[in-house]
Parts: sequence; structure tokens; C-alpha cells
Amino acid sequence: MNKQPRVVILGSGPAGLTAAIYLARAGLKPVLYEGTQPGGQLTLTTEVENFPGFVNGIQGGDLMDNTRAQAERFGTEFSWAEIVSTDLSERPFKLHTSEGKDILADVLVIATGATARWLGLESEKRLQGRGVSACATCDGFFFRDLEVAVVGGGDSAIEEATFLTRFASKVTLIHRRDEFRASKVMQARAFKNEKIEILFNKGVEEVLGTDAVTGLRLRDTVTGEESVLKVDGLFLGIGHTPNTAIFGDQLAKDGTGYLITTPGSTHTSIPGVFAAGDVQDSIYRQAITAAGSGCMAALDAEKWLESLEEG
Ligand code: NAP
Repeated sequence: MNKQPRVVILGSGPAGLTAAIYLARAGLKPVLYEGTQPGGQLTLTTEVENFPGFVNGIQGGDLMDNTRAQAERFGTEFSWAEIVSTDLSERPFKLHTSEGKDILADVLVIATGATARWLGLESEKRLQGRGVSACATCDGFFFRDLEVAVVGGGDSAIEEATFLTRFASKVTLIHRRDEFRASKVMQARAFKNEKIEILFNKGVEEVLGTDAVTGLRLRDTVTGEESVLKVDGLFLGIGHTPNTAIFGDQLAKDGTGYLITTPGSTHTSIPGVFAAGDVQDSIYRQAITAAGSGCMAALDAEKWLESLEEG
């Protein structure tokens, strides 16, 4: 390919921005589409304590602002245009925007991340923003001296519950089994926090309240017994769904919708399309692993472009 290839990155979390740094430093002038949540999930978190290089931790938003500035410094172009669908059937790939424009890409790095999951209850939907939330960092502040519940048994749920104890007078952690999935360190944090009460073997059947949350109707997952828990807020911490809707069925996915990449690389099922970060990672889902795979995607994309030139 003699002319400058059109290199497009979708997503502005650690994976997309790291891919941008590498591709920009390689002189490939990437254009990065930031998506609906610039900075990705880390902007919804507070302190990040496990990203190497920050002895005393760093705020998630600051980490992303710095990484974005770093990508910009080397010549990444940023766009806020919203991509609503894609045609990957031939190259250049076509990305359709919400304004009816077509963006062409010779190489595509998908780093669209994942979005929080909901229980799927009608009452949960009705009371969203009125006491039901999937983001403790965003909404925890509103529950000062109130009682809240968090659903889930993984690291996210415990992280949310622990964070919420900064504001709430009491946090009830509700899990559907009698064993957490979360790491031992996180579990210990929940067990020793006096503001956290743990309810095992309970499922949320209904969020109670008309204009605001007043409680939860729970069902014991072993005995089937019903109970009511009085709370002012409900936070979901039950995992995430990969953001792949704009690709339809064009790319190979696993049973839960995560993009499949060739083991040890970021190649997807379509040559020239690479995937990095949470959109293709149902296991690690860490900022550092996302950044690492963003780097891999950039290097894979560079090599792939070189192979076109040679071929
Ligand atoms: P996760 O590990 O998949 O855990 C989801 C939890 O929600 C599970 O306990 C699951 O129950 C429960 N759940 C799922 N659907 C449910 C439903 N419909 N009703 C009730 N409960 C439901 O997700 P995650 O906690 O978001 O963590 C994802 C990854 O990110 C993990 O690898 C985790 O280690 C990582 N992470 C790390 C940190 C950190 O290190 N600071 C923070 C957050 C996340 P079951 O256990 O019964 O399946």
C-alpha cells in the first residue's frame, strides 16, 4: 500500500488509547473514535491502585486523561462521531456514523470495551436514576447517610460496596450463592468492613418504590422464602456485556458475545480487523491487560500493513 493507510481505532479506554500511542509513534496517523463514554470504564472508577508505576495509586479519570494526552502528543486524531453500524465485508471497511456519513478504514482496531449488566427487572428499569444505578462512583455521593444494597459476588460488587461505605450508613451486599467469586483480598475487605452486611443465597425479585427506591423484595435461592429489605438505593455489580452490536454477526464471537482473537494475537476472524481490551477479554478485564492488548493490536496492525506492502 503506497498511500498512507487509513488506520481507525474504535474506543478510548486503556486499549484504544494505548493502540493509538503505538500507531501514532509508528507514523500511521490513527483516527480514534471516542465512543459514548470517552475514557471508558476507568472514568467511572475512583482510585486505581493496581496500575504499575503509580506507587500511591491514581484516579481513573486522570489516568485516562494522561493517556489521551500522550496519544495526542504523537499525532492521534480524535473524533466524537458516533459509529452506529459497520460493513466489514471488503476493504476499505466502512463505518457508518449516526449522521449518515461513511468513514473508510484500511485497518481497524476494535477497543469498544464492555458495558455494565442489569438484572432485567421492570422495576429496576423504572427506578433507574431514582435510586437504581450501575455505577457507585457516579451516584454513590447521593446516598450520604442512607442505606443501600449492592448485588453481585465478584470484584466489581465488592469494590462498589466498599466504595459506597464512604457515603452510606449501611451497605448490604446481596449474592445469589453462598460463596463469592471475588478475589480473596477483596473478600477480606468486605468481611472486615463494619458497614457492610452480607446476604448470601438471595436474589432480587423486585425493586420497591414509586418515585424512589424504598426497598427490595428478595427471594432466598435455596429455600424460596421471600423477604423485604428496606434500602434507599440499589447498585448493580453483576458484570459486563461486550460492546459488539455495531459489528452484527460479521466477526467471530464466543458464546457470551466476546470477540474471538487468534490465540496469542489480536487478529479477529477478518484480516485487517484487530480487537483489544475488554471487548475480547472475558477473563482478565484489567486496565493493564487492556493496555497491553492495545499495544499488541497496534503491533499486529503494523505488521499486517507491512505484509500487504510486501505481498
Ligand atoms: P464477574 O466476576 O463476572 O462477577 C459477576 C457477579 O455477579 C458474580 O458473582 C455473579 O454471580 C453475579 N451475577 C451475574 N449475573 C447475575 C444476575 N443476573 N443476578 C445476580 N447475580 C448475578 O464480574 P465483575 O465483578 O464485574 O468482574 C469482572 C472482572 O473484572 C473479573 O476478572 C474481576 O477480577 C475484574 N475486576 C477487578 C477489580 C480489581 O481488581 N480492582 C475490580 C473490578 C473487577 P455468580 O458468582 O453466581 O456467577
